[in-house]
This record gives sequence, C-alpha cells and structure tokens, in this order.
Amino acid sequence: MPVFSVCVYCGSRDGARTTYADSAEALGRGLGAAGWRLVYGAGDVGLMGRVARSAQAAGAETFGVIPQHLVDWEIGKTDLTTYVVTETMHERKKVMLMNSDAVVLLPGGAGSLEEVFEALTWAQLGLHKKPIVILNIDGYWDPLLALLKHVIDQGFADASLRGLWSVAASVEDAMDLLRSAAKAATE
Ligand code: AMP
Repeated sequence: MPVFSVCVYCGSRDGARTTYADSAEALGRGLGAAGWRLVYGAGDVGLMGRVARSAQAAGAETFGVIPQHLVDWEIGKTDLTTYVVTETMHERKKVMLMNSDAVVLLPGGAGSLEEVFEALTWAQLGLHKKPIVILNIDGYWDPLLALLKHVIDQGFADASLRGLWSVAASVEDAMDLLRSAAKAATE
C-alpha cells in the first residue's frame, strides 16, 4: 500500500514570527516520525524549505512539484525522493493534490491561500474527500476563518462547507487529526 501522503501548503517566506518556522520544522519532523510522505511545492525557500529539510532529516519520503519557471526563484529542491517539474502552476497544484491523502495549511501568503482554496472548492464540488487541516499557529489564520464564516453566514456557501476543513492550534493537534485520517484510510 502506498505511504500516507500529506500535502503541505505554506509560505515561500518565513513570516514575521519565529513560531511559524518552528511549526514548519515540527510538522516536517512529525511526518518523518509517522513514516508518512511530504508532498509540497519543491522549493527550498521560507517555510517550504524548512518543512522539507526537517522531513528529510526525520527520514520522510518527499515528493515535490515545481513549475519550470519557478525552479530558480524558489530554488527547486532536487534532492527530494521525487522531484517533478511541471509546465504550469495549474499542473503543479493538480499533481500535488492527486498524490496526497490529506492537506495541511501552514502560515503562508497569497500562493498558499490560492492552493488551499482550490482544495476547498474542489471538495465543495465533491471532486475529492481529502481532509483539509488549517494549522492556525498563533491565530495566524483567524482572519481566514472569520472570512469563511462570513461567507456562510451571508448565504454565499452552504453550511456544509464548514465540514470540509478542521482547525488545529498546534502541530501536535494537526498530527492527531492526520493520524485519524490515516487510520480511516486503512479501514
Ligand atoms: P506564498 O504563500 O505566496 O509564499 O506561496 C506559497 C507557494 O504557492 C509558492 O510555492 C508559490 O509559488 C505557490 N503558488 C502561488 N500561486 C500558485 C498557483 N496559482 N498555483 C500553484 N502554486 C502557486
């Protein structure tokens, strides 16, 4: 059976607080300790690089997907277990999600938002049932969670949208949610 694979969306920068970097590294270590595979955007910058380096150091398999035009900018990490270069951003997201069993959102910027919204909207359309874990380190994603609530409250999404993601306040909580998902995947 293929190894449980976790797609991590996160910033190509480190962000303003050291807790963001610490969490990215803790998540990478957690994936390695659990014997799971990291799927991510194959860059060696910001939180992306941190999660990948710590996952590698903890013995995790790593699967990275990067479009050709970002190989220099995001420093394509060629020493991953699997390093895939795509032609477009769209292909990148598709290949990442296709090869994952669950999604985790760490702190990040517009790119991370774009990626998680695609995973969320595809789940809303019934195109996949992969769990989506919003890792809300230091309340970083509180404004996103408030916006999603507002969208539902104002009638622009069904209340069932709320069932498509889980919120974890710490890497340990996120790992617990992922363990439940991994267990469910084997049943
Ligand atoms: P950011 O959160 O803005 O630092 O971006 C995180 C990652 O998302 C980076 O690797 C970006 O290249 C990537 N990204 C940004 N926009 C897209 C997109 N439309 N499709 C796929 N990846 C993207």
